[in-house]
Parts: sequence; structure tokens; C-alpha cells
Amino acid sequence: MRHTEADHGLVKRTDVAIIGGGLAGLCLARQLHGRMPDLKITVIEGQKHPLPDAGVKVGESTIEIAAHYFREILGLGAHFRDSQLPKFALRFYFGGGAQPIEKRTELGVSDFPPFPTYQLDRGIFESFLSAEAVKTPNCEFIDMARVQSVSVCSDAVRDAEVGRDDHRIRYLRVGGTFVLDCRWVVDTSGRAGVLKKKFGLGKPSDHGANAVWWRVSSRVDIRDITDDPSWRNRIGGENRWLSTNHLMGDGYWVWVIPLPKNVTSIGIVADGNRQPFDEMGTPERARQWLFKNEPELAALADPTWDKLIDFRRLRHFSHDCVKVFSKDRWAISGIAGAFLDPFYSPGSDYIAFSNTLITELVERDRRGENIAAAAKAFDGLYLSFFENNLKAYTDLYPIFGNGRVMPIKIAWDYGLYWSLFAFLFINGAMTDERMLVRLRKELSLMVVLNTHMQALFRQWGLLQPENGGGNYIAQYDVEWLLRLNQALTRQTPKDLIYPTVQRNMKRLARVAAETTLLARREFPQLPSLPPRIQSEMEPAGDEPVLLRLYQALGFVKETPDFAEADSTAPTLSAPNSWATIVESSFSGDAQSSLSASLATATT
Ligand SMILES: Cc1cc2nc3c(=O)[nH]c(=O)nc-3n(C[C@H](O)[C@H](O)[C@H](O)COP(=O)(O)OP(=O)(O)OC[C@H]3O[C@@H](n4cnc5c(N)ncnc54)[C@H](O)[C@@H]3O)c2cc1C
Repeated sequence: MRHTEADHGLVKRTDVAIIGGGLAGLCLARQLHGRMPDLKITVIEGQKHPLPDAGVKVGESTIEIAAHYFREILGLGAHFRDSQLPKFALRFYFGGGAQPIEKRTELGVSDFPPFPTYQLDRGIFESFLSAEAVKTPNCEFIDMARVQSVSVCSDAVRDAEVGRDDHRIRYLRVGGTFVLDCRWVVDTSGRAGVLKKKFGLGKPSDHGANAVWWRVSSRVDIRDITDDPSWRNRIGGENRWLSTNHLMGDGYWVWVIPLPKNVTSIGIVADGNRQPFDEMGTPERARQWLFKNEPELAALADPTWDKLIDFRRLRHFSHDCVKVFSKDRWAISGIAGAFLDPFYSPGSDYIAFSNTLITELVERDRRGENIAAAAKAFDGLYLSFFENNLKAYTDLYPIFGNGRVMPIKIAWDYGLYWSLFAFLFINGAMTDERMLVRLRKELSLMVVLNTHMQALFRQWGLLQPENGGGNYIAQYDVEWLLRLNQALTRQTPKDLIYPTVQRNMKRLARVAAETTLLARREFPQLPSLPPRIQSEMEPAGDEPVLLRLYQALGFVKETPDFAEADSTAPTLSAPNSWATIVESSFSGDAQSSLSASLATATT
């Protein structure tokens, strides 16, 4: 029998063991150390570090929550400035590739947005993070090591060989099997899902989209897709190539993302019912698929196929999880738990969100607090945000090419994200139970609103003729969107967070009412506004909130009367699961124990 360190009694111990040193695991180690420098942290990672630059991982475009997390919470601003690329926001071209680009409706920014975001090479980033971890006191990064088993200590299950409160991890590395005991174990093992599998926590997602993607060591510059000078010049400046460019068609979108060192990432994401996965699953098939569906991009990218760095494919990428945080000191972060859809690049947002909740739980546990109520509440909060956001994608791919409805849907999704999720996260309110309990009504209103709006868009997009038209829509001509994005650049005083969210929700309700009215004027069979919303919206302003957008899309010429809420058709009965989860997380026993623990904490 081969002897290992463990066999000789050299069992090591750490405070937090992190399984998987990818984006989620490495960021968590940095965040934990930033908050608790004396905490012992061990990251066990399967791959050898440093990683090659490009072509290792997908997930290169960041949005506001992730950008804030990397820059402000993890203090990585200098890395992003020096080694990654600034992002010129998300940009969309609707109408399918049969039309020339200048005839496709385009939605995007004309100047860099108030809140900076980034395009990042994951190889460069993760190698940087692991090198930093190695230099950090009390932090150990073990690469080329594979976790084989985890024995979790809990009230119900105790591993006889482990100390009373510790979990035990066994991992393989050159030299044999090693044993690590730990107070906390966090699973960030990506799709391997070590804890998710161990506990049988996997839950299928209804969202059945597939993806293929590849990286080339060459710049595929979207500006060169046409010679048309009016198209090239219409946004002013030369920054289009720095956007996450989305070419949108029936049941699919294609991304073009620039990366540092002249690398480009390209991906096709598609609903398998409309765009069969087999037609794109190899480099040659993806090339042919582009020529069929996006011929201009295909021609632009064609000379780069011989500079291919990698080619990856993933069928049915969305997956769900029934539990991610436990009072028994285990947690799951990143895609080891759940994953939505890359359309708005939210992957790193969810890492920021779960890592922040985990850090809070570890810190409270370290202070000797009972974390049972907080773990339950955070678990409900995280999974319910996931569930609510999944609605923005499920069954919506069939309308992705629609150049009239999709810009309004995107404005809605931006408005909701900046009004609530990003606003709460950036202002540090996601770990403030008292604030979340106070916001219960607004959060449940948000679910009703979003459920209604996504159903409206889904049906409207199928009824509304596409009519691309070739307009350029500057998203920040809509004052509301500009103000919401600007608001994220400054810290909101704590006493203003609640009234701001309240105001934001009333504004969202007004946008929902106006958009519903607009859609139902042409298609009365579309769902009408749920009655509850009518009493929750702000009074009508001088003009509809999205008037500039409606005008740019040709829905209205002059200022229409949107003051009347529309209540004539049958109302939508929305499955209100998000609200139910939040309410049950923050009500009854959970809420009273939360209140009690908060009362104790504050006296
Ligand atoms: C098509 C597509 C496009 C995407 N685009 C974006 C985007 O634009 N922006 C964005 O933010 N997100 C995007 N994402 C999501 C993004 O890829 C994920 O959010 C991110 O990679 C998750 O990081 P992670 O650390 O959870 O997992 P990973 O990066 O997969 O890391 C897991 C790590 O665990 C290690 N590991 C696994 N098993 C073990 C074990 N037993 N022992 C030790 N180590 C182990 C692996 O080696 C790996 O390094 C996209 C996802 C898809 C599918």
C-alpha cells in the first residue's frame, strides 16, 4: 500500500477549504482574506497554473455588478486598467443576418457609459488571481490537485474520524492522497458540481438553449463588417468593436467579444428547437452555420479560422440547484450551483452575489453568531433572484430577432437590473436582512411586474412584424436608463436606499403600464396589466418614460396619452414563486429569528 501524508497522520487543517480555483473560487479566497486577514484559506484547483492566456474558460464580458465587485470589493481596478479591455457596453443588431448590417436595427451606446465595465481574458485573470493568492498570508493555493471526496459534518451526519465541527476533504495530488479538515467547505468546482452531486441538489432548468464558441488569435473587428460610411460613423467615435456585439436572429444570437492581445471570442447561442445544435457543433459546421445565418460576419471572420485557439460546445447549458448555502457551513458558488444564460453576461454577477453572501456567513460564524436564519434567508434570496432572472430568457429566443419588440424588452431588463439588483448590490444592501425584510413588498411587486412583462414580450414578439428598419437607437437617449446607470456610480446613503428602491419600483410599474398599453393597442389579445400594479405605479409624467424608444421604433409619432392604465382584458395570473420564496425566507420563524438575531446583534 502506498503511504501518503494522511496515512502518516499529517492531516492539515484550514478554516475555509475552497474546491476549485476558477473565477468563483479565486475571487472568494481574495474576498475572504480582504475581510478576515487571519482566516486560513485553502484553494484546491485541478488545473496547472499559470493558465494559458486565451481559450481556457468562457465568460469574458462583465456587467455592472461584476465590474463593481472586481474593482471595488476585490480591489482589482489596476489589473483591469492595465491587463484587460474597457467594454463599450452591450450592443445588439436585430433582424437576422439576411439583411445587410446597415438595415438592421441597432441598440447600443454612443459614448462609454457612466458605469465602467470590462472585457476580460479569463486565462490572464485567473493566473493573476492565483499568483496573488500564493503571495497572500494565510492563503494556500494548491494546483494540479483533484478533490475526490468530502465528508460534511452536520447536525445530522457526523464523520466519526473528524473533529466535532470539521468537514473532511480528500484530494489527489502528485505523491498521493491528502487530507484536509476545515470548518467551512465551499464548492466552486464549476460544472463538476462536487457538493451538488454529493447532496443530489441538481435541478433541471426549463431553459433549453445550447452554445458553441471559439477564440481566434486575430482581431475580428465589427467595424469592418461593412464599408458603408453612414453606418460606420453613426455612433461617433471608433469604439463599436469594444462592445459585446450581439447579432440577433430567429432563435439565436452570436457574440463577438474583443479580448486583450488581439484575441477575439465568438460564440453562437441558440434555442435547439429553432437552430439544431448538430448544425453548429464542430468548427466547420459553425463556419457553415455562420455563412447561412450571419453571412456578413461569416465573411469577416473567415480569414481567422486558421488562427483558431480553441473550439468548445455545450448543450443545454442552463442548470439549477435547490440549495446553495447551509447553516452547516457548506456553500456553493459560481456555476457549481446554477447558471442562467450568457445573453446579458450575468455569470460573474452571480459569482459576486454568492461570494458576498458566503463571506458574510463565514464572518458571522467566526464572530460566534448562529447563522441558521441568515443561511436560510440568503439561500432563498439567491435562488429566488436566479429564478426571477431566468424568466428573462425562457422561451424568449424565438423573438430575439425582432427589431421592434426586443429593444423594448432590453430596456425593461436593463431598467429592472439597474433599479433593483445592481442598485442593492452596489450599495451593500444584499446582506442587510433588515433592509430586505423592509423591501418585501417591493420585491414581490417586482416579481409580478417581471412575470407579466416577460409574458407580454414573448407573445408580442411573435405577433409584431419584425420591420427591422435599420434605425440606430442610442439607449441613453432614454433619460431613465441614463439616470439609473449614473446612480450606480455613487454610493447611496443608507437611509436613502429604501426610498430609492420604492421610487424605482413605482417607475418600473409605470413603464410596465405604458408598454402594456402600447402593445395592447395593436394586439388587444395580449395580457393586460395585473390589477395590483395599477395602485403601485407613479403618476404619469409629461410623456411616457420610454417615449424616445417608442418613437425610434416607429410605434408613436407624437406624445401619446399613456396616463390611462389599461384593465379591460383578463389579467395574467403570474406564478409568483419568487415572492413566495422571499416571503417564506423572511417571514414566520425565519423572520422572527432574523429579527431576534438582529436585535441581539445591535444591542
Ligand atoms: C456559453 C457561455 C457563455 C458565457 N459568457 C459569460 C460572460 O460573457 N460573462 C460572464 O460573466 N459569464 C459568462 N458565462 C458564465 C461563466 O462561464 C461562468 O460564470 C464562470 O466561468 C464560472 O466560474 P466558476 O469559477 O464557477 O467555474 P469554472 O471557471 O469552471 O471553475 C471551476 C474550477 O474548478 C476546478 N475543479 C473542478 N472539479 C474539481 C475537483 N474535483 N477538484 C479540484 N478542482 C476542481 C476546475 O479545474 C476549474 O478551474 C458564460 C457561460 C457559458 C456557458
